[in-house]
Amino acid sequence: MRVRDIAIGGDSFVVMAGPCAVESEAQLLATAEAVVAAGARVLRGGAYKPRSSPYSFQGLGVEGLKILSKARDATGLAIVTEVMSPEDVELIADYADIMQVGTRSMENYALLEALGRCRRPVLLKRGMTATLEDLLCSAQVIVMNGNPEVILCERGIRTFETATRNTLDIAAVPVLKTVSHLPVIVDPSHASGVRSLVPVLARAAVVVGADGLLVEVHPSPEQALSDGTQSLTFSQFHEMMDDLKPYLALRGQLQDFHERVSA
Ligand code: PEP
Ligand code: MN
Repeated sequence: MRVRDIAIGGDSFVVMAGPCAVESEAQLLATAEAVVAAGARVLRGGAYKPRSSPYSFQGLGVEGLKILSKARDATGLAIVTEVMSPEDVELIADYADIMQVGTRSMENYALLEALGRCRRPVLLKRGMTATLEDLLCSAQVIVMNGNPEVILCERGIRTFETATRNTLDIAAVPVLKTVSHLPVIVDPSHASGVRSLVPVLARAAVVVGADGLLVEVHPSPEQALSDGTQSLTFSQFHEMMDDLKPYLALRGQLQDFHERVSA
């Protein structure tokens, strides 16, 4: 599918990066410039935040959407941001290029139906206790309501393991790509909860054939209002993007090889 001048799925590998939440214009613009320089094509940032605690930062709302669109004007990055309720779909679609459905909303069918009627591609995150079949059923709700442009996102599931925030189900990528034609991306940030694990999980995503990544990046993660422990600094993000290059080159060669063999 196409988002502005970006192809998602097919041969391309698309990196979406940015802070967990839009906190200020300075924070977002600095992050946008850093991630575009490192090779990201899409800027992420939540303006409406679904938080496990009602006492946590809930996002800047419309003000956050305006900051996101300023960052798009400044850098040419496309924007992905979360929508939590059906009533917000139209407003957010006026600002966003891709509508994100969070793990806590994967089974919000009223939201999925509203997104089916929306003119923007949807990035659908796997519910933290959802099977892949559940994820595909939710994608189908969006498609059946009129919107065929759904990107699936593996972001880790809840298991008995406590060493990581969630457990990255890396097999989800080849399974989903076998049974569905939809693009599949991986979010190594929420999957691990730990900054140091993000680059290696990103590498795993490339190797298993994911179509892209969703990664949290912050100018000073220790001061982030949400998800600081899993956010990369600008230089860590840059390094991760450089580290991925040989793996992406290999993936390209393998794709060419398979095309020649099947021709
Ligand atoms: C996010 O992307 O910041 C987010 C809230 O993710 P998830 O819905 O996967 O927890
Ligand atoms: Mn987050």
